[in-house]
Amino acid sequence: MTTGRVRSIVIVGGGTAGWMTAAALARVLGPDYADIHLIESDAIGTVGVGEATIPQINVFNRMLGIDENDFVRRTKGSFKLGIEFVDWGGIGQRYFHPFGDYGIDMEGVSFHSYWMRMAKAGEFTDVNDFSLMARAAYDGKFMRPIDAGNSPLSRIAYAFHFDAGLYAAYLRELAETAGARRTEGRIVDIERDGDSGHIAAAKLESGERIEGELFIDCSGFRGLLIGETLGVPYIDWRNFLPCDRAVALPCERLDSLPPYTRSTAHKAGWQWRIPLQHRIGNGHVYCSEYMSDDEAAAILTDNLDGAPLGDPRVIRFTTGHRQRFWEGNCVSIGLSAGFMEPLESTSIWMIQTGIARLLSNFPDKSFAAADRDRYNRLMVEESEFIRDFLVLHYHATTRDDSAFWDYCRNMPIPERLAEKMRVFENSGRTFREHDELFNDTSWFAVMLGQQLPVRAYDPVADLLSFEETHKRLAHIRDAVRNSADYMPAHDAYIAENCAA
Ligand SMILES: Cc1cc2nc3c(=O)[nH]c(=O)nc-3n(C[C@H](O)[C@H](O)[C@H](O)COP(=O)(O)OP(=O)(O)OC[C@H]3O[C@@H](n4cnc5c(N)ncnc54)[C@H](O)[C@@H]3O)c2cc1C
Repeated sequence: MTTGRVRSIVIVGGGTAGWMTAAALARVLGPDYADIHLIESDAIGTVGVGEATIPQINVFNRMLGIDENDFVRRTKGSFKLGIEFVDWGGIGQRYFHPFGDYGIDMEGVSFHSYWMRMAKAGEFTDVNDFSLMARAAYDGKFMRPIDAGNSPLSRIAYAFHFDAGLYAAYLRELAETAGARRTEGRIVDIERDGDSGHIAAAKLESGERIEGELFIDCSGFRGLLIGETLGVPYIDWRNFLPCDRAVALPCERLDSLPPYTRSTAHKAGWQWRIPLQHRIGNGHVYCSEYMSDDEAAAILTDNLDGAPLGDPRVIRFTTGHRQRFWEGNCVSIGLSAGFMEPLESTSIWMIQTGIARLLSNFPDKSFAAADRDRYNRLMVEESEFIRDFLVLHYHATTRDDSAFWDYCRNMPIPERLAEKMRVFENSGRTFREHDELFNDTSWFAVMLGQQLPVRAYDPVADLLSFEETHKRLAHIRDAVRNSADYMPAHDAYIAENCAA
């Protein structure tokens, strides 16, 4: 027996989180199930960044029935095959974290193990030769996967870069078409039910009062409902991820669009470069304890690929998450729920997974603790796994050129990460724990790229003889090379399919 279906859902905030939530709930539940009402304030605006994604966004797009070419065209986007990390493991060094896998596993043994055996013998030392995404990225090539049997062309994994403002507008159109309503106005007060403490209504500056049964807090960093109203504490992770500010400054576009994000480490943080059709998105993430805003802006301005468009804009943040993502009748999604810097483009994924988990644990009017507790546990776990992966980039480095990097190299790290590093250093093996977002290939790419030393290769890689392993790796490398050669230029692909 159910105590009653939720009939009205109020979404507070119209940034990426608010409109992704509205579009998904309207599409899945539909207006006949519940009234879906989004409130946003044009005067307050949105954070206005968030332009790089990971391949999981394709699942969300499919769920919304999005025409991908239309989506890229309308958001002035480009395609992404991975992230290039420059000066992270050490100054002058670079590596690529590709989407998809390296090579293929053979005889039940991980490809990584065979590659490590060969690399230790001085053969096939460039691991990028075994990733079509890495090779194509550096060649400036892109296409979607095709049905080509065993060819790497069947397994092309990609995501997008897009203009965050245009993305929210695009989602808004989808949400409103599917029946979601929007009210513009600043919320000045939140009314709570005297008995349950649940949120009952939002009061706007105009005097309008908007009631709801389920409230989704997408109000951004301030956490208007989850934090300011319900007082759910924020777990601060600055001890692990000390960067707490970003300065953003777009610049003129590149003549040719690279199909990848670039992350360049600086002396107290790092800089992103996200190529779009009409501009490049740039930002410098830094730690205010080790660098002033002016210095951060100067470093960014000195390292742009084109003339700046506008003035640098500083954004402050605290890495971490709400102790409980869902409290009473309020679920926080997006920046109100937590934030980890955009090093691996995971924030939009956190929104997506928050929405998916809300749908699979959707409450009735009892707002049962069982649903809430499960949701909260899963979201905290998800955050912790991502945090560990990000910490790896900072901690496993040979950089010793600044007090910031000295802190990162020596800081205490979560034990689960320490164990992963010990295992890799012992045998070059990496694992995906439970349902964590980043798989063994991602861990391998970053551990290798960050120059973690490896004592010995996985003994099971001796399963194939040296000659046989050599022959098979040469074959895979050639297949990757031929596939990259076959692919069209990223620019040509956009021009033909989705030019803005
Ligand atoms: C520096 C930086 C770089 C990032 N880069 C990436 C990236 O590359 N990839 C990625 O996946 N993510 C990235 N992110 C994260 C991404 O930007 C956010 O996850 C995403 O934009 C969601 O933001 P949001 O909708 O939660 O908040 P916001 O965009 O801040 O939206 C908040 C909404 O709440 C409304 N609001 C607030 N208060 C009120 C009120 N009183 N009354 C009415 N309305 C109100 C606002 O008007 C606005 O509509 C980045 C974030 C930062 C800070």
